[in-house]
Amino acid sequence: MPIAPLIATTTATTRRSGLGFAKRTYLPRIVGLAIGSLCVLAAIFPLHPPFAVWLLLAFNGFVWPHIAYQWSIRSDKPFATEIRNLLIDALMGGAWVAAMGFNALPAVVILSMMSMNNIASGGLPLFFKGLAAQIIGAVLTSAVLGFPFYPQTTPQQLYLCLPMIFIYPTFLGFVTYRTAKHLAEKKRELLRISMRDGLTGLYNRRHWEHLLHNEFDGCQRYGRKATLILMDIDHFKTINDTFGHALGDEALIVLAEELLLGLRVVDIVGRYGGDEFGAVLPNTSAEQASQALKRIQESLNVIAFREAPELRLHISAGIAEYQQGMRGYQDWLKAADGALYRAKNNGRNRQELAIPQP
Ligand code: GH3
Ligand code: MG
Repeated sequence: MPIAPLIATTTATTRRSGLGFAKRTYLPRIVGLAIGSLCVLAAIFPLHPPFAVWLLLAFNGFVWPHIAYQWSIRSDKPFATEIRNLLIDALMGGAWVAAMGFNALPAVVILSMMSMNNIASGGLPLFFKGLAAQIIGAVLTSAVLGFPFYPQTTPQQLYLCLPMIFIYPTFLGFVTYRTAKHLAEKKRELLRISMRDGLTGLYNRRHWEHLLHNEFDGCQRYGRKATLILMDIDHFKTINDTFGHALGDEALIVLAEELLLGLRVVDIVGRYGGDEFGAVLPNTSAEQASQALKRIQESLNVIAFREAPELRLHISAGIAEYQQGMRGYQDWLKAADGALYRAKNNGRNRQELAIPQP
């Protein structure tokens, strides 16, 4: 079993999602720390800190976001590195809160914005780790500075905190909305992939059988009429061998298109296997289904392929109308498959009706 390549693929996928996380955090960190610096600046300005503290504030507010980003994207484990960066943010946030002497409004603004960011990024575990980092940063810094305590907020400090209070939640809300929208699109795409055949775009076998099952239940419960057609391309192996696999693929796509064009929107068309297709026609008798299929076979007869002008696509088909005595949808499939088998045996390029069971 090729375990090594599998592990390599998983590692690559994990790294890619970690890089995505680092990229999503980059802009919020630039914005958050830039306007957060304004809050800190307002709070520490009256305390006349040494020049080195201003330098540290400028570094933390405007240089650190870029270093953190580079660190993450160059890391082998970008996700873990980014989590560590968020904890460094929290540690520094705690340190600034202590440095400003626990000035009430800027302190609450900084700590709550960081907590919001942490819980949005990593749920409760990151929230609690971040809280611990904030407390450690605050206690250590406060101890080094001799436990300064100036909790009163002046009006000027309040005004300089307003950008952070308004802009950051709005910005983070927008980023979260964009991520949620992106995820919803991905979910829709995954759902489509899980139901559709990659080559023809028709329902894949699993989903088609599920819809067949539903139709069977509907017929059984409400006494509705429906007909099942199973089709298989004649001598498809020869087409592949003679004209190449690419033309074989094109033939499958052409047949899928003809089925969609020739049947109604409510009819359920799927790719059952390699060159085998299935169609469930609700509220349709075997006779009506046969007429529809005849028209499709006639239109296939006049379709020419550019790379193989002499080639004509022929299909054999088995047609089975739902019968009350059927115990499950598998019985319905079996009936259509038996008829298809007879169509092949009776010379191909034809359709056969299932023989109704007494
Ligand atoms: P028959 O008339 O009895 O149906 O003969 P056949 O040659 O069509 O035989 P069969 O239906 O068993 O052949 C199916 C072939 O379809 C075999 C496989 O190589 C080919 N096939 C399956 N999937 C694909 C595909 O996605 N693309 C192409 N080009 N060929 C496929
Ligand atoms: Mg075939």
